[in-house]
Amino acid sequence: MPELSKRTETFTDSVIRRMTRISNKYGAVNLSQGFPDFEPPRELLDRLAEVSNEDFHQYSITWGAQNFREALAEKQSRLMGRRIDPNAEIVVTCGSTEAMMAAMMTVANPGDKVIVFSPFYENYGADTILSGAEPIYVPLYPPEFNFDPNELEAAFRQKPKALILCNPSNPCGKVFTYDELKIIADLAEKYDTFVITDEVYEHIVYAPHKHTYFASLPNMWERTISCSSLSKTYSITGWRLGYIIAPPHIIDVAKKVHDFLTVGAAAPLQEAAVTGLRFGDDYYRQLTYKYTEKRDLFLKGLDDIGISHTIPQGAYYVLLDISEFGFDSDLDFCEKLAEKVGVGAVPGSSFFRENVNHLIRLHFAKKNDTLNEALNRLSQIKKLKL
Ligand code: GLN
Repeated sequence: MPELSKRTETFTDSVIRRMTRISNKYGAVNLSQGFPDFEPPRELLDRLAEVSNEDFHQYSITWGAQNFREALAEKQSRLMGRRIDPNAEIVVTCGSTEAMMAAMMTVANPGDKVIVFSPFYENYGADTILSGAEPIYVPLYPPEFNFDPNELEAAFRQKPKALILCNPSNPCGKVFTYDELKIIADLAEKYDTFVITDEVYEHIVYAPHKHTYFASLPNMWERTISCSSLSKTYSITGWRLGYIIAPPHIIDVAKKVHDFLTVGAAAPLQEAAVTGLRFGDDYYRQLTYKYTEKRDLFLKGLDDIGISHTIPQGAYYVLLDISEFGFDSDLDFCEKLAEKVGVGAVPGSSFFRENVNHLIRLHFAKKNDTLNEALNRLSQIKKLKL
């Protein structure tokens, strides 16, 4: 038999998705893969029901339905502080996952280097491999997950083609300050580098922290490829609706990459989601309020149990320190946690370039009842001590 592709030799399956399967196997409360168990906004579901009887069952325009791009452009223009052109500056993709992949393929040649902060969302590793690029990892140091500007500049000196910026960050919950983003921006300009952002948690930010769109920094529009999705904002991770926003000459290429990768995102879902894109600011305020309440409930529960953890500034993940349990492998710990305690988590090692295996990631995008049930089960966690 011929050999399979070299490119995939170093691939493992996604640990995040694997942990969902392990959670299901043990009937655990699944706080591993980050997705809500509560309903999307009723207006979206009602519109989805209507759309099924309307004429949206064939391909939409490959780079996104006109209606969707116009609603998205209006929303993002308001937030990003510049007029986004719905016809020239947007590609609608199958989730931010495809947006990131298409962005990488748009800028990177085989052998190009790409800066990735560590810890990082596991897809970025695969994205670089699939596009033939080579990651340069720059550590974020706990507890605030700050970077060292000198280490970052050393990475830029290796002449990377792009830097990947997940803000707010999965898994560490960091929200980059304006000053930190400005350091990155100045380096991107000095070393003539693209910045590919993943801003899917743009609306899940806890006061007093604030989200700054990287593309809105001085001179950054020209070199920023902003990726995001509707998954987390409207609790519709299964709809797979994401997008790229960038200057027209970048979008021209991204449109082609996207067209050949997937042709397009699901037409009926794009149409139904327009309802969400047209929500007023109140919706986003309520979303922040809802997640702040969940974060506070969950962190207080963890404090009551006595497990040390990170304090997320944004996104909906928390890293727990499991050093006291004496496990050599965080993977084994997570399997035992699912089996004996009944809670699904993701081993921290799948996010870190460094040799880290004393952390696990839990998410709190769940109904308060689900979170309370998970906390109730986690109160038994000490019995996992070796
Ligand atoms: N972003 C979510 C997480 O980190 C979901 C990932 C996925 O499976 N697409 O858990």
